[in-house]
Amino acid sequence: SNDVLPDLLRRTAEAFPGRAALGFLGATTTYRELWQDVGHFAAALQRIGVRPGERVSIMLPNCPQFVVAFYGALLAGATVVNTSPLYVASELEHQLRDSGSETLILLDAFYPRYSAVAGRVPVQRVIVTGIQDALPFPKSVLYPLKARREGHWVNVRAGGSVYAFRNLLRSPSTTPRPVTLRPDDVALLQYTGGTTGVPKGAMLTHGNLVANAEQARAWMTDLRPGQEVTLAAIPFFHVYGMTVAMNLSVLIGATIALVPNARDIKMVLSQIVASGATLFPGVPTLYNAINNHPDTRDFDLTTIRACISGSAPLPLETARQFRQTTGGANLVEGYGLTEASPITHVNPIYGEQREGSIGLPLPGVDALVVGEDGQPVPEGEVGELWVSGPNVMKGYWNRPDETAKVLREAHGQTWLLTGDMAVMDEAGYFRIVDRKKDLIIAGGYNIYPREVEEVLYAHPAVLEAAAVGVPDPYRGESVHAALALKPGMKATEAEIIAHCRLHLSPYKVPRSVEFRAELPKTAVGKILRRQLAEEARAARQ
Ligand code: ATP
Repeated sequence: SNDVLPDLLRRTAEAFPGRAALGFLGATTTYRELWQDVGHFAAALQRIGVRPGERVSIMLPNCPQFVVAFYGALLAGATVVNTSPLYVASELEHQLRDSGSETLILLDAFYPRYSAVAGRVPVQRVIVTGIQDALPFPKSVLYPLKARREGHWVNVRAGGSVYAFRNLLRSPSTTPRPVTLRPDDVALLQYTGGTTGVPKGAMLTHGNLVANAEQARAWMTDLRPGQEVTLAAIPFFHVYGMTVAMNLSVLIGATIALVPNARDIKMVLSQIVASGATLFPGVPTLYNAINNHPDTRDFDLTTIRACISGSAPLPLETARQFRQTTGGANLVEGYGLTEASPITHVNPIYGEQREGSIGLPLPGVDALVVGEDGQPVPEGEVGELWVSGPNVMKGYWNRPDETAKVLREAHGQTWLLTGDMAVMDEAGYFRIVDRKKDLIIAGGYNIYPREVEEVLYAHPAVLEAAAVGVPDPYRGESVHAALALKPGMKATEAEIIAHCRLHLSPYKVPRSVEFRAELPKTAVGKILRRQLAEEARAARQ
């Protein structure tokens, strides 16, 4: 379609004005109200000087203000920069500088991290909000900085201005100056690379993001417009949550049940029940945590119909247990990457699902498995996964060199080189073997960590597992396993190694095992193999 993102919200607000758009800690906002707030906010941004094409960084957890800020900034013609609330000051500084953000919207609790770098970044305007702003509380408990200086702004030492989000929403002008938005305009800079190296901003256009929401809708054939409830536990500040939990919901008029902190499993569980969630996009570590939480049985999770798991391999055991826990929720594995907005593959929700596979390319996505020589390999053989489609990014922000490494013209199309090793089977289902860069090479043999991890997950005491390569004087590298055990369960290094010997060729068996209370994860919940590998290597020196 030729839509830009605000079109999705406008149309849904017309079709389902009274439908709850957002549910947050007991407070609801209808689609009519949301569209009004977005208009107010866009007008206010323009009034304080935000110009079309300018970058607006959003550093918020999942809360109503995120949705208002995102669509409002877009309606004002700006490019949003998703900013992880977990960033420490130096990471925040890097991203604000790299993106050239002149406006930053953030939660009051994060303000100290900004003020630590304020003089070194291009930010001119800071918009501060508190979680309370989303709730119908008396004004006296609202953001104290503003309570003291009701009205407008205070100076910070960077010479910029600080505004209260709440005051901007009450902007005198309700309609923003119209800005012509084109599908090819960059809507979002989504930084990627945290698990693998230097962060780079993927430029995702309005067309890219609209396409991926529409592709997800087409995949899920029986979505009921104006009737679904999406549990938004995965963060919007990552493109997976943004597309599947936010934009898809807006597209189909679903209520978005906001979970500000998905690490709080009890909160996740109670939000599922309170909202009657029907759609629950997630990541393997989250489904796993629900499976193993002591209180899960006290919650009725049977409203959940469909779950898509992405961002990391879904262990078979996790999927099986989750279906049981929810009384049959349809949990399917998908795959994607930031540079593709992000989903490219998913198992059919009402069709043949192949275990351990990421499924089929979404409508409009072409996929190839390519060998070292740049030519497609025969089915059943491993090669690098290349994808092409309307959801593939324009490039990396200000990084033509990095862009050239991953976008390639071939066979009359632009292909995104994913850096993941994959196989396609005879029915066209894809399986991710592993990341190219996570490959462990032991005594000349290639070991894909994922295969080892599947075996580790099958051990009854194992909650989380990662297999990484560590230097080995004889083999070059050998396998090291980092594990977190289920609450109350015990296992020794020798038991784990013995278990692996039963299921893996000798060279794939971990030589060493470490136990941790929990494994380090990204903000999205992806286990940080790279960090574990570095720590295991350092411990050996
Ligand atoms: P960062 O954490 O900085 O964003 P990243 O490299 O993990 O870095 P993402 O775009 O978040 O970037 O993640 C994409 C990657 O996640 C894919 O390239 C792939 O390696 C992995 N991935 C996603 N889904 C799956 C899946 N179902 N199975 C295996 N791997 C997956």
